[in-house]
Amino acid sequence: MKITELFEKDKLSLSFEVFPPKTDSAFDSVKEATEEIARLSPAFMSVTYGAGGGTSQYTLDIARNIRERYSVPTVAHLTCVSSTKETVAARIREIHAAGIQNIMALRGDIPQDRQNDDRSRWDYRHAYELVRELKESGYDFCIGGACYPESHPESENQTEDIRHLKEKVDAGCDFLTTQMFFDNNLLYRFLYRIREAGISVPVIPGIMPITDKKQIERALKLSGSFMPRRFLDLVDKFGEKPAAMKQAGIAYATDQILDLFAAGINNIHVYTMNKPDIAKRILANLSDILEA
Ligand code: FAD
Repeated sequence: MKITELFEKDKLSLSFEVFPPKTDSAFDSVKEATEEIARLSPAFMSVTYGAGGGTSQYTLDIARNIRERYSVPTVAHLTCVSSTKETVAARIREIHAAGIQNIMALRGDIPQDRQNDDRSRWDYRHAYELVRELKESGYDFCIGGACYPESHPESENQTEDIRHLKEKVDAGCDFLTTQMFFDNNLLYRFLYRIREAGISVPVIPGIMPITDKKQIERALKLSGSFMPRRFLDLVDKFGEKPAAMKQAGIAYATDQILDLFAAGINNIHVYTMNKPDIAKRILANLSDILEA
């Protein structure tokens, strides 16, 4: 099923992101966790991709397993910046052969040791090149792209970032998923700006429940997101009490989801960090609303 077919329903629908194992020995436990999440029947699940290609096979293995065993629509992530045209073409064929209809087309982060390369020699420099290639592949994929309510860290300013986002969407994105954010007003302002810039594809907000103190540092490093005082106060109060911090983080994420739904945004993606209990508790908090 194509992700874009979900956007017609006037109901709250939650989807979940999982990541593949980084090592062979972690495969079984990750598979089990992703299966437990799939059994919750989310609207769809996305499976991330290792930028350096290290976990590339596992992305497909996990996505295929979820789709075949649990009939959950899946999105396979695919990055291009560290790859050759041949490798990417092979991955695209494999994703298609696995019956996966949705691809999140990403550039990926530029590895430290390639920061000073002559980029004109790379097969890919930006995600729009992969989007265009997928569009021209003849496979009829539903194509997603990443977007950044607080701008991509490499962008000089938001105007530039949105200009490049428009190019990426025009190259063939059918939908966009956002980077995590912790203040919904940033998302609303971003949506206003991209609509004004002529980007009209559906945008799925990505919500990251922060459930322990250490995770904040990691999340900030990854996304550079703004942490509202209201959230930092919760960390001050519960940071040293793991169970309470977890409950507070889940409540905060639930509140963000409710606010987005009340504002007319029905489809929301939750970064589960492969933790089934977080997915379960968010669903439990919203059980009647999901039925309404
Ligand atoms: P791009 O769209 O290429 O944008 C990157 C930067 O280049 C931006 O600053 C943009 O403004 C700029 N730019 C774009 N086009 C041009 C142009 N023509 N000229 C000049 N500048 C340009 N990473 C992974 O490794 N694996 C994953 O599975 C993964 N999943 C993700 C899912 C989501 C929803 C998000 C938000 C991010 C994900 N990432 C993942 C991280 C992502 O790979 C990084 O943020 C990466 O640095 C940028 O990828 P992109 O696809 O947004 O790149």
